Amino acid sequence: MKTITIRASRQYNVLIGESLLNSAGTYIKEAFRNGDMPKKLAIITDHVVDQLYGQPDQPLTTSLREAGFTVHKFVFQSGESAKNLHTINDILEFLASEEVALTRSDALLALGGGVTGDITGFSAATYLRGIPFVQIPTTLLAAVDSSVGGKTGVNLKAGKNLAGAFWQPSLVLFDSDTVRTLPKTLVLDGLAEAIKCGIIAEKDFVKYIEQKSSLIAACNYCSSQESVHIMEDIVIEAVSIKRAVVEEDERDNGIRQILNLGHTVGHAIEKCSNYEISHGKAVAMGMMVIARASLADGITKDDFIQPLQESMETLGFDLHCPYTATELAHAALSDKKRRGDEITFVVPLHLGQCTLKKMKIEQVEAFIQLGLD
Ligand code: NAD
Repeated sequence: MKTITIRASRQYNVLIGESLLNSAGTYIKEAFRNGDMPKKLAIITDHVVDQLYGQPDQPLTTSLREAGFTVHKFVFQSGESAKNLHTINDILEFLASEEVALTRSDALLALGGGVTGDITGFSAATYLRGIPFVQIPTTLLAAVDSSVGGKTGVNLKAGKNLAGAFWQPSLVLFDSDTVRTLPKTLVLDGLAEAIKCGIIAEKDFVKYIEQKSSLIAACNYCSSQESVHIMEDIVIEAVSIKRAVVEEDERDNGIRQILNLGHTVGHAIEKCSNYEISHGKAVAMGMMVIARASLADGITKDDFIQPLQESMETLGFDLHCPYTATELAHAALSDKKRRGDEITFVVPLHLGQCTLKKMKIEQVEAFIQLGLD
């Protein structure tokens, strides 16, 4: 098992390894040993993950009970459409109900992907003005990205992630065996975010993924022991990179924006596709658009695009962006989080180093055009 410690406003460990769900109760007790020990834990999960890992006779719940916790569970319908204030309301009412009655020293447990983590974290941040929570990510995307760093929240009608809070977990526990049940499409979503971490901070990590791309695809993604170990290595490296960024800028006022490489164009692609193209696949396309535009504009001196594109295609990514620069610029500029008459792009200087580049909104379309294939 590998332990990575995150030193943010709350210090916590990220545990990464096989079969960790079997001992989850012990790890949770250990995480709370210096403070109030929760008596009750409320698992928040979606209906798919509940069937796979949340049943009373399965390792997680068994281990929590054996460690002495009283376990409650709230299950919601899986999918991004559940990430809203109605679900938060239902969770808060459940936690406050007579039969559950969680107190400030009890804790929530997010069992699932990024949607579950974001909803659970936001519920934890608001219930009784804040109670602890534990992240148990079960998608690769949640393991490499959303479970670490303390961004929690929900979508509003006007856009994604518009209501939320910074609220750090007390522990992140990634059992790498859970990737075995992931379909290919969800593995790709996680790999896109991992590759992003490599491009912004660690050239060798990109090279590692490039080297392993044929093997990952040949192993049907996560069905072999070897590919599960590769996924573990990928999570360890991606979390280490995210740790460094989050520790420097926990509340996203500066350098943390570097984690948005490919996201401005990626969000525009998601929006143009009416969310038919998943976030991960859209970010993968967005990163290639930005890399090509940066190379054409002379910002990037190092042409790392060809080998990366080849290995991402081997992994199964479709990197051809089906939208025009006009459509993408329009979608990007209508983003509710945009400030003033400028937009900030994350651009690679070379493989393993990126920087933030502010651009006037009237230059955005031409810049994106440079990156379309
Ligand atoms: P998700 O939570 O909806 O999970 C995707 C699907 O996978 C769901 O249907 C789920 O039931 C299923 N699933 C989960 N684990 C599984 C497993 N082990 N085997 C089989 N199926 C499994 O979505 P996601 O892709 O994990 O995360 C996307 C969300 O994360 C978005 O809402 C995004 O905004 C958010 N996000 C948040 C941050 C952050 O920093 N907070 C960062 C990136 C993304």
